[in-house]
Amino acid sequence: MRKPINVLWFKRDLRLSDHEPLMEALKIKEPLLLLYVFEPSLLRHPNYSDMHWSFVWEALMDLSHQLKEYQVGLRIAFAEVEEVFTQLQLEFEVKTVFSHAETGLKATYDRDIALIDYFSKEGIIWREYQQNGVVRKLSNRSSWLKRWYSYMSAETATPDLNRLRKLSLLNKTEIGRDLPYPSWLSRNPMRQSAKREKGMRYLKSFCTERSKNYGKGISKPELSRKSCSRMSPYLSWGIFSVREVYQAMNVAKKAGQGSKSGLNAAMIRLRWHCHFIQKFEMEERIEYENFNKAYDLLEKPINAKLLAAWMTGTTGFPMVDACMRCLRETGYVNFRMRAMLTSFAVHHLWQPWKPVSMHLSRIFLDFEPGIHYPQIQMQAGMTGINTIRIYNPIKQSIDHDPHGTFIKKWVPELTDLPSDAIHKPWELGPIDQQLFDFIPGRNYPIPIINLDSARKEASDRLYGMRKTKAGRKESTRILARHTNPGPRNA
Ligand SMILES: Cc1cc2nc3c(=O)[nH]c(=O)nc-3n(C[C@H](O)[C@H](O)[C@H](O)COP(=O)(O)OP(=O)(O)OC[C@H]3O[C@@H](n4cnc5c(N)ncnc54)[C@H](O)[C@@H]3O)c2cc1C
Repeated sequence: MRKPINVLWFKRDLRLSDHEPLMEALKIKEPLLLLYVFEPSLLRHPNYSDMHWSFVWEALMDLSHQLKEYQVGLRIAFAEVEEVFTQLQLEFEVKTVFSHAETGLKATYDRDIALIDYFSKEGIIWREYQQNGVVRKLSNRSSWLKRWYSYMSAETATPDLNRLRKLSLLNKTEIGRDLPYPSWLSRNPMRQSAKREKGMRYLKSFCTERSKNYGKGISKPELSRKSCSRMSPYLSWGIFSVREVYQAMNVAKKAGQGSKSGLNAAMIRLRWHCHFIQKFEMEERIEYENFNKAYDLLEKPINAKLLAAWMTGTTGFPMVDACMRCLRETGYVNFRMRAMLTSFAVHHLWQPWKPVSMHLSRIFLDFEPGIHYPQIQMQAGMTGINTIRIYNPIKQSIDHDPHGTFIKKWVPELTDLPSDAIHKPWELGPIDQQLFDFIPGRNYPIPIINLDSARKEASDRLYGMRKTKAGRKESTRILARHTNPGPRNA
């Protein structure tokens, strides 16, 4: 007879604390199998890259290490989820699957729909739990803020991990083959570590010290690397829950640690984190359609040459190139620079947002579909309700990297130029070109577009679209569905 078991299915929640499904699963008498599934369809998905999976692998190894204390193992499978459960059913009688609800890509949404069918045919119960401040099946935002604050201040869901020893099944063989990919084994030291202990260090140092520079550094490409919390990959992959981070910041604030205003500002952004995912939960079609349907009429033909220059950081605009190169190497740039990179590609280069979004998601270590898509659409001017921001990369450079410290780090071709020439190296006169041995177009590309005319053209077209009857009608619909009562936050 097959042994009856329950399964805890880890997804983007790779932790043992503030984990309601784990807490609930441990209350039940059947043995519990701890499972993570690498789904080939997701490994191949164009939104993801090796960087993400090597981060997840590192997180899983860390999770396994934490589980050693309880003498239990984690079963890691490499197959589509239905296949994994079909195999498990041969060995065990799976009674209940516990997991967090996921606001993910269409690929995971479709998978979940298919699983509901499969589980029901197999007589398996699937219990899903709220993962953060995102509420399922909400039709508008009238009660959302209140619910968010009440969720964030509620007690965290603490599993009784000592019961793991009693209930869990030891890891046996892995399901599937080819794991891990060799490229996952050596971590690029330029990207953040997935280990919870390392994340805890980021959190602690932000709460006690780094938050003091939060306001001053948030827009600066170099300073922000230290003064922002840098919690995003830990939140996106669930190594920490949003509630854990919110509560840690709140405790620090009440204890007078760090900076009150810095901590407050970061906590508001934790609310934004869920606010954006909620948008995606309620309108997931924005992964592949324009938020405001009236913008379907905009024509944006793909220009492979321009896109390639943007992707490789060779546009001739030093701040754009430095940010792109830094992102490709480290997986992180701050909010303003992400917005500038997007704006440059979709407005100045007049490229469609989809390839832009795809490239960025692959190089953001913290890629979170629920934040990414609403942000991309907002920055691309596709909502019709937000101010259209067309960032001038030269102004961004002068304002936020006046001495070119960040630029010189990532665009070594410009290292020898004086600070005042770094923002517009193409303007260097012939004498200076000789002096610094720098010829625009030879050492470093001349700008691939005329910034001013490109800006004007994009602005005229977008504002024109906004004024149409269809554009206004769609904006009214979006406002009613997606904005919180009271002060607007996005
Ligand atoms: C085009 C674009 C795409 C983006 N894609 C992602 C993404 O895939 N994943 C992601 O986590 N963030 C995304 N962001 C938001 C933001 O840039 C990052 O959350 C932030 O830079 C992460 O750094 P931090 O952890 O130091 O943030 P902090 O400034 O310390 O903020 C604390 C936390 O609040 C949340 N947060 C901060 N800013 C925002 C914001 N504007 N919107 C929503 N949540 C926010 C994050 O979870 C962050 O970790 C995107 C922004 C833009 C403009």
